[in-house]
Amino acid sequence: MRIINGKEISEKIRQELKLQVEELTKKKGRVPGLATILVGEDPASKVYIGSKIKACAQIGVKSFHNNMPAGSTQEEIINLINKLNEDKNIDGILLQLPLPERLNPDKCIAAISPAKDVDGLHPYNAGMLTLVKSWQAIVEQKLLVSCTPMGVIYLLKYSNIDIKGKNAVVIGRSNLVGKPVSMLMLANNATVTMAHSATKDLQNITKQADILICAIGKANMINKDFIKDGAAVIDVGINRVDGKLCGDVDFESVKNMNIDITPVPGGVGPMTITMLMHNTVLAFQK
Ligand code: NDP
Repeated sequence: MRIINGKEISEKIRQELKLQVEELTKKKGRVPGLATILVGEDPASKVYIGSKIKACAQIGVKSFHNNMPAGSTQEEIINLINKLNEDKNIDGILLQLPLPERLNPDKCIAAISPAKDVDGLHPYNAGMLTLVKSWQAIVEQKLLVSCTPMGVIYLLKYSNIDIKGKNAVVIGRSNLVGKPVSMLMLANNATVTMAHSATKDLQNITKQADILICAIGKANMINKDFIKDGAAVIDVGINRVDGKLCGDVDFESVKNMNIDITPVPGGVGPMTITMLMHNTVLAFQK
């Protein structure tokens, strides 16, 4: 088993981004700005926002944090987003999810200017990802793509795992992970199969995968019987069992296999915030 070290790769990319920010700041005469919005006081969301603000400081992005009271109305949130859309010092806007239940996240996300949508969740950016023809076009057009899926692709590329012509199986079809990661794999010329909860004989399908991407959210569901010898396995799942974090892959069961695999924690997780920084730099360049 060879570990794909997300922490190390993430650190390397952050160093590259830091240099890019230094250069761009000189050219443009101002630093890039990321606005974060947190509605309410959810402790897990606060931790995530804290890590995002820390990452900004690490690479030279100025962060502007906006804490809205839990009782804020949809109109108040959209008004704030409109103000940030107009602000010339702000290149990216991140609305921390989940929102309190009575608010409609789709309507709030749709209010973000697509050019500042560093989470890549606006219908324009999500739609562009399905229309674009190649990875090269994604890079050239500086398309803002959902951070975790983009992190998966960078993990593969930085680990020198070829995607072209490979059989890729993605388990999960959410708008946040499964769908965009499938589109990215397709743009990289993989032959992609998308599996989900209604898929029959999942094991038979995953056994064909040269690259298996698990975005299910079911602790330890994928064991050695689902994986082909020599495959690369990307475990996106974050689950908690007895207070400990684990992925969708049963790490113990696969530890003696000849595979490349991302651990949980320390695999895909660290890449998500790094890709947020990557998108902020892209939005700044645009
Ligand atoms: P969702 O719950 O939105 O999607 C889960 C997907 O898994 C669905 O498409 C569902 O199918 C499918 N699924 C569920 N059970 C099975 C099954 N038994 N067999 C096959 N497919 C199944 O989750 P997300 O996509 O948002 O997240 C997935 C995981 O990734 C979670 O653990 C989440 O915490 C983690 N995550 C990690 C991130 C990171 O930074 N590392 C970021 C985002 C998410 P169906 O559509 O039919 O219901």
